[in-house]
Amino acid sequence: MTTENLWPKECAMCGKVSAHTKLSSSTEFGPPDMDLRPAEMYRSTISTWIQRCPYCGFCSGDISEAEEVDKTIVNSPSYQSQLNDPRFSELSNSFLCRAMIENSLGNYQAAGWAALRAAWVMDDRQNVASAAQCRLRAIKLFLRDFAARRDSLKEPAKYYVLLIDLHRRTEQFGMAQTLLLEGRLLNLQDNEQQIFDIQNELIAKRDARCYTTLGELRNE
Ligand SMILES: [Zn+2]
Repeated sequence: MTTENLWPKECAMCGKVSAHTKLSSSTEFGPPDMDLRPAEMYRSTISTWIQRCPYCGFCSGDISEAEEVDKTIVNSPSYQSQLNDPRFSELSNSFLCRAMIENSLGNYQAAGWAALRAAWVMDDRQNVASAAQCRLRAIKLFLRDFAARRDSLKEPAKYYVLLIDLHRRTEQFGMAQTLLLEGRLLNLQDNEQQIFDIQNELIAKRDARCYTTLGELRNE
């Protein structure tokens, strides 16, 4: 089961207080999606994974902590317009704003995950076009991280698993296939091998839908 509570939070950017839902506990049943989106019930708690200050628009997992975030990013016109980009829902925009913050800090992997979460929100709304736009941003950010850390990554296969799925979901089947062939040269674990095989079939069929890591179609 999932337990949620409302908590007041003082924004680390502007100092104003607003109420936010805090997830106390949740469980997960079944395999994740190919892009590692968790299964239910945790899957449905996505709105609690990010908070948005209603006053200044600061978006974070916890808006009472800003760490090294520069206020100029949050106040910038591009960030402020991203908060209300009509192509995406409010929640999706919050994740995309978080991606901008992480990108500005050079945390490209965290930025990629934020953009991917924005895509999941649009998946839930069956908005394929907007979800694809979020995934394209996620690809750019993950590739930036991959390029920076390629030689020091402990488990590069995990990156291939993610990037192959992101390309397939955005109908970039040729690139997905290239990544798949490249990834096969790595020392793959059994479960990764299995995922690669499933992806290979889906890419051949030009199937861009959402599947679990066991190859089951995820019915939204
Ligand atoms: Zn604020």
